[in-house]
Amino acid sequence: MSQMLFETAFLESESLQGHAFLVLWRNTPKSRTDACPYCRKRHLHTPEDGHRSSHCPLSENKKLTLPHGITVHAFDGYIIKSRTLVQTEARTRDRG
Ligand SMILES: [Zn+2]
Repeated sequence: MSQMLFETAFLESESLQGHAFLVLWRNTPKSRTDACPYCRKRHLHTPEDGHRSSHCPLSENKKLTLPHGITVHAFDGYIIKSRTLVQTEARTRDRG
């Protein structure tokens, strides 16, 4: 299995004001993110989910093309999402 395929197969993007950003997941608001597909580090950010500027120690703007054909760029930053928060929101919605 090609490593490139493995790295991007499960990545998601989300659009903010017409621009696509990578979604970078973390387990809880206080945990580090999953390994960042741009730089392979696990970033520590403030507890609020949402768009953050990149903490990647990159000297050039790396781009990734996701499985659905959308290209995202490292220097644009990413959208942080916490699995626990997203699950809580889903449960709240289900209860109506
Ligand atoms: Zn990074």
